[in-house]
Amino acid sequence: MADFGADQLEAFRAEVDGWLQANYPAELREPNAKTDPEAIWGGRPFAGSDDPQIVWMRRVAEKGWTAPTWPTAYGGGGLSAAEARVVEREIGRGGYRSPLTSFGLWMLGPVLLEFANEEQKKEHLPRIVRGEIRWCQGYSEPGAGSDLAGLQTRCEDKGDHWLINGQKIWTSYANRADWCFCLVRTDFTKKHEGISFVLIDMKTPGVETRPIKLISGESPFCETFFTDVKIPKANMVGQLNGGWTIAKRLLQYERQNISGGFGGGGGAGGAAGDLGQIAKRYVGVDETGALADADLRGRITRNKMDFQAFALTTARIAAESRTSNGPSAATSIIKYAAAAFAQERSELMVEAMGAQGLGWEGEGFAPGEIMAARGWLRSKGNSIEGGTSEVNINVVSKRVLGLPDPK
Ligand SMILES: Cc1cc2nc3c(=O)[nH]c(=O)nc-3n(C[C@H](O)[C@H](O)[C@H](O)COP(=O)(O)OP(=O)(O)OC[C@H]3O[C@@H](n4cnc5c(N)ncnc54)[C@H](O)[C@@H]3O)c2cc1C
Repeated sequence: MADFGADQLEAFRAEVDGWLQANYPAELREPNAKTDPEAIWGGRPFAGSDDPQIVWMRRVAEKGWTAPTWPTAYGGGGLSAAEARVVEREIGRGGYRSPLTSFGLWMLGPVLLEFANEEQKKEHLPRIVRGEIRWCQGYSEPGAGSDLAGLQTRCEDKGDHWLINGQKIWTSYANRADWCFCLVRTDFTKKHEGISFVLIDMKTPGVETRPIKLISGESPFCETFFTDVKIPKANMVGQLNGGWTIAKRLLQYERQNISGGFGGGGGAGGAAGDLGQIAKRYVGVDETGALADADLRGRITRNKMDFQAFALTTARIAAESRTSNGPSAATSIIKYAAAAFAQERSELMVEAMGAQGLGWEGEGFAPGEIMAARGWLRSKGNSIEGGTSEVNINVVSKRVLGLPDPK
């Protein structure tokens, strides 16, 4: 039976390989392919666009492979966990770009599948699969970060609609998002049991976003204000005052998915490229061709091994979660470790480059050097976003190890 399964998977792998080769836009094979950097996030601004990244996204989405395991009824690929892994692997192996990067795919979609009613699933899931809507996450507030259940954004029942007033903060890409999944307070007499989970179209009158600048110079997130924002009754997911269960579940998906983006360079922190090779260019090599600085060499090797082991562990946990009831509190271990390794990698990169790794701007620094310095600063956020490292350690101690709550 096992061999039969392996044969089937191999046939599927060959089919996927053939399809990818035939459908990958030629323009994207160019090293300096002309594509809008935002295109990979999809969303309303790209409706009807002929950007090659969008063409690629549409083709993959038509197969349902942007969300390979989601049911075909909602636009997904309807694949088994093993088949989905084949698709992911073949995309990586062939050096193809990711077709779609999306909070909808990573966080919202999985909880809609679990908690939404049929109308909500039919309305939102296919649009997530096709990358038509870019979502942002309205969780944190100025007075509610780690203590998320302390949130105060008010949502009142006005008979035929909900009325929302309040402020969110650190809302990643809110100024570019089309819709927001948002936690609101529907009962001020209770804490966790007074929270509901709603979906807000960012075009609704009364929604305003103000970008905040990060220490790295980027402005990837915003303050988000809701002033007398009216949303349809149908936009509440799950039960009234039942949002906390959905919120926690979504955080598990977030922690599972966010970790994959750390350390590879670019947005999540650190410059791209092989750390060992880059260090050799700046520090030089000894007579055997190894990195000349033995101490740095040891630390870089350990970091690379940690990443390798981490990637395998993450893949195993992701596969397990696909075949069981989804991710567990163990995702907090993954999130914690990913942040630590990514921050270490960024520091090693800057150290290897020496003074050249401290450039902010100007002709004296190559783009990769500026990226290293800015990425190092950006990586500071890795241990904050998606729940701080301290909070994730608390989750591990309580929910994984079963240690008593000191409170
Ligand atoms: C890059 C980035 C992107 C983000 N994107 C989003 C987004 O899209 N949407 C969104 O809603 N939020 C987003 N956030 C916000 C993020 O979720 C919060 O910053 C985070 O949850 C921490 O909350 P806080 O900033 O209020 O810090 P606080 O909760 O005030 O924490 C301050 C310090 O106290 C520690 N601390 C707090 N409570 C405990 C405790 N019980 N035990 C031990 N230590 C504790 C923390 O670990 C931290 O070191 C983003 C943050 C970053 C950095």
